[in-house]
Amino acid sequence: QIQRALRSLSIPLDRLHIMKSHMIQDMCKGLSRQTHTLANVRMLPTYICSTPNGTEKGNFLVVELCQNQVRTLLVTLYGDGNMSPQMLYKIFDLPESIMQGEGEALFDFIAQCLSQFLAETISPDANSSEERLPLGFVFPFSCKQTQLNKAELLSWSKGFSCSGVVGKDVVQLLQSAIDRKQVGSNEAGGHWLNPWRGWKSSQFTPGQLCRVDVVALMNDTVGTLMTCSMEGRPCEIAVVADKGSNCCFMAEAHLVEMAEETSGRMCVNTEWGCFGDDGILNDILTPYDVCVDEESSNPGEKRFEKMVGSLYLGEIVRHALIALTSEKAIFTGTDIAVLKEKGVFTIQHVLDIINNEEGTTEVRRVLEALGLQPNERDCGRVQQVCRAVMGRAASLYATGLAAILSYMRQTREMETLLVNVGVEGELYTGYPRFEEILQSVSRLLSPECMATLLPSRDGSGRGAAMVTAVALRLAAQRLQVAEVLSPLRLSHADLEKVQALMRQEMDRGLDKNTNANASVRMLPTYVSHTPDGTERGDFLALDLGGTNFRVLVVHVTEAGISMASEIYVIPAAIMQGTGEGLFNHIIDCIMDFQKKQNLMTETLPLGFTFSFPCQQVGLDKALLLTWTKGFTASGCVGQDVVQLLRDAAQRKQHSGLKVVALVNDTVGTMMACGYDDPKCEIGLIVGTGTNACYMEEMRNVGTVEGDQGRMCINMEWGAFGDNGCLDHLFTHFDRIVDETTINPGKQRFEKLISGMYLGEIVRQILLVMVEKQLLFQGKPCPKLQTRNIFQTKFLSTIELSNGLALRQIRAILQELELDASFEDSVLMREVCQAVSLRAAQLCAAGLAAVVEKMRENRGLDQLTVTVGVDGTLYKLHPCFSNNLQKTLKDLAPKCNVSFLLSEDGSGKGAALVAAVANRTATARQ
Ligand code: ADP
Ligand code: MG
Repeated sequence: QIQRALRSLSIPLDRLHIMKSHMIQDMCKGLSRQTHTLANVRMLPTYICSTPNGTEKGNFLVVELCQNQVRTLLVTLYGDGNMSPQMLYKIFDLPESIMQGEGEALFDFIAQCLSQFLAETISPDANSSEERLPLGFVFPFSCKQTQLNKAELLSWSKGFSCSGVVGKDVVQLLQSAIDRKQVGSNEAGGHWLNPWRGWKSSQFTPGQLCRVDVVALMNDTVGTLMTCSMEGRPCEIAVVADKGSNCCFMAEAHLVEMAEETSGRMCVNTEWGCFGDDGILNDILTPYDVCVDEESSNPGEKRFEKMVGSLYLGEIVRHALIALTSEKAIFTGTDIAVLKEKGVFTIQHVLDIINNEEGTTEVRRVLEALGLQPNERDCGRVQQVCRAVMGRAASLYATGLAAILSYMRQTREMETLLVNVGVEGELYTGYPRFEEILQSVSRLLSPECMATLLPSRDGSGRGAAMVTAVALRLAAQRLQVAEVLSPLRLSHADLEKVQALMRQEMDRGLDKNTNANASVRMLPTYVSHTPDGTERGDFLALDLGGTNFRVLVVHVTEAGISMASEIYVIPAAIMQGTGEGLFNHIIDCIMDFQKKQNLMTETLPLGFTFSFPCQQVGLDKALLLTWTKGFTASGCVGQDVVQLLRDAAQRKQHSGLKVVALVNDTVGTMMACGYDDPKCEIGLIVGTGTNACYMEEMRNVGTVEGDQGRMCINMEWGAFGDNGCLDHLFTHFDRIVDETTINPGKQRFEKLISGMYLGEIVRQILLVMVEKQLLFQGKPCPKLQTRNIFQTKFLSTIELSNGLALRQIRAILQELELDASFEDSVLMREVCQAVSLRAAQLCAAGLAAVVEKMRENRGLDQLTVTVGVDGTLYKLHPCFSNNLQKTLKDLAPKCNVSFLLSEDGSGKGAALVAAVANRTATARQ
């Protein structure tokens, strides 16, 4: 019989595996909005989104409502990694009449306790300061929490039944009671001696409670999690192995569907004690468990807790002993009537019995003290039963822990999870093998997870102070972050203003009289037709001014467009050397390409994509206005670029070159997309730089003779704002970025939008955030001082990562030698989002001005138009295009704008410009 009893108490490993899966299923059920109310494991959101990082400091007041007691606590944190908090506390007995009286009386009583406690502990000078004292409220009842400081009581338990509280916000009730206390506080300051400090309470002015703010409400479990987090060692799971059983952990916030928070993590109170209430544990229940449950005040509920909570372990042993006695396996012939009484066998008895390895003297002492008369064999068997019950409890804890570990690992998409687990409770402190079993069994069940167990100190009270401290730290931080980023946030009105300014500058650029001073140059391109699809022929194309210099051959045939190309490097020394050197190099590259492609003998028409601002005088005549994007080759500005190329060909004695058109890359993009979509009458680039072109009515182009038809206008909108009209938008960060470029004061619009600058803007913001101690806990990071270290492509990666993939951010940051915490990553993403959103919005405001002008030009109520787009930022950034299109809809609701991605616009476009020129020339003849 004894063997059978022991076997029924030991659960095989494969059964624990199944149980672990059930636990994970139930956790998911509890987290999902649809199934939350049906779930046994409730997974309650706590609105605690951060663990302490050791920088918390200040005084924090805690009040904890317990069975028959109100505990008050004053914790002083020193920002020293939470190594040595100072704590003062006082415990007040709570009369039964109050536990069952009116709600208001209960909260008044709590306020009274606080008032008295403060009178005894706070020194007069602290009291006279203006500082508000934050308070954490430990309220261990079932609540519907909607904020850290907002929680409706769902139901009382633990002997409480105060009227008028269920359904109300208990934070508000406590705060009101505290505020009431302030008025009648005069009589509260009696004359008596302070036991700690030795000064009279009458020495300070009463009314100190008026400066107490209830900042956070929490369940007691959360406290454990919070006390185990030290500097550089966050604790993300807490297990309470006490009278009751519970666990909380940091879950990915977007999975906690009951809370609105979607970014970062949130502590979830699992309430796992109710696991098994649907019968899922029935096959492992022993007859002893069934008896314990039946005799409890809540039969059928908290099945898991009743197998592991120390309130029940003695009871399980008691029922096992009763059963074994009736089977005559123990205590034969002696009276065991004492065992019939519920609760006589306590956890302390169990611990005393099993913690004694040497012989049975201690077992005998315990049993005899209970009034039993054990023989030697009885002592041994009782000890075996106790060990089995305790071992089972520890294994079940390990199974629950393993479920949490695996769930965390899966949802964080990690190969292996390393995590700290805070443990608290009398099972952990009183039963030496508990830790060992918890560790080894959870390891067996979740081999990919590595949990480090940490003892919690002073549990819920100190934890509550930590929660309060963290809440305040975060609130202060949120405020500061919002402040830093606020200049980057643009309102609808701001964007409308940008749109209006862009429109104004466009008009000034088109007008012959104001063109010279306009920041948007509105350069004529002499391209007057978009493709119609009938273009044919073979063409050479050059692409200069993008990331790569390329030479291409393009075949435009009935079957479509095909091409071959070669990338050539332009060394920095040549970019910044002389014009002759630059164009010589270009001719060398062309000759090399022609050799490789066997094109030496042919003279193909060449289209030259030249992505710099030019004053075009004809399709094949264009004066360079200024270099941008890092080019500074001398002797070129003011010169005809086509002529510079022809001169170089002559110097190199290359006669087979026929340059027919010089094309801006925006125009190339528009033309390339226009070949596929005739509605494409706008070209947009958002890559290294940004620019746009569109088809304008000749009658509006004051800088070119003639009023008939249309001409493509290269806006050169990157320079928008160079006349100071956007100064109100530039932030401190933009100004620093501008100052460190090779063209300060120039291309101001571009510097808010394009790939060459966004990373730098982010870097400048991060530097300020480090300085303000909002990032990396204020630790200096020298690497971040390096220019261009934060690349624009990082914005794409960082913003792409939702709650799941934040570790990618950390990988990037590690590359930068930045040791980012999880919260640093979340903050960094916010910075990137602010910068890229602003860029997209400004770009949209510019486009809105363009499409609205086209709509007006054509006298349409509704304009349908396509924008051909090129540029890696637009193409690869995960949110840029969406943000751009959404903002454009807002700003230009009467325009129906589609976007078409250009594939190799520069090469294809240059060839098409040459081809269209060819076609229209032929048509004219
Ligand atoms: P260009 O405009 O010079 O012709 P691209 O259109 O390829 O060249 O744009 C290059 C720019 O795109 C780079 O300056 C870089 O800042 C940016 N970029 C590169 N990769 C990404 C990415 N994954 N996400 C966002 N921007 C990127
Ligand atoms: Mg390009």
